[in-house]
Amino acid sequence: MAYSKNDKVLKEAASRLKSLGIRPLSHRVAVYGHLMHVNNHPSVEEIYSELKQSIPTLSKTTVYNVLDHLCEHHAVRKIVIEGREARYDAMTHDHIHFKCNTCNLIYDIEQPKVPQLNLPAGYEVTTTQVYIEGLCPHCAKHMH
Ligand SMILES: [Zn+2]
Ligand SMILES: [Zn+2]
Repeated sequence: MAYSKNDKVLKEAASRLKSLGIRPLSHRVAVYGHLMHVNNHPSVEEIYSELKQSIPTLSKTTVYNVLDHLCEHHAVRKIVIEGREARYDAMTHDHIHFKCNTCNLIYDIEQPKVPQLNLPAGYEVTTTQVYIEGLCPHCAKHMH
């Protein structure tokens, strides 16, 4: 198959899915492996158009269903940036998203502790998504 060059990624994707208690069906492995590999927070559209080149039988509905399933089982996180279409992230621990306004890439920023807010009593936080916009180091270098 055209996918053989990614064998290592797919094998790792399958074993991670298994360890999360998810049956490693071929479409799940393909979508999850792709997310692990690209790590650029793609939308459903981007995932679909990338994968259908090597998996012609794939439909967009299948990609949606697989992503829903992976989100439900905490293998993938759905992030919504600027209220636009959802994007997907194989990094499921709390981290910060930094979007560069020049190159439009979304960077993962690891922080030992995601900033805490002083919420009124009674609110319990389950997930924190921090989103920052600005200029990435690469673009900043070309600006100054
Ligand atoms: Zn940039
Ligand atoms: Zn991320």
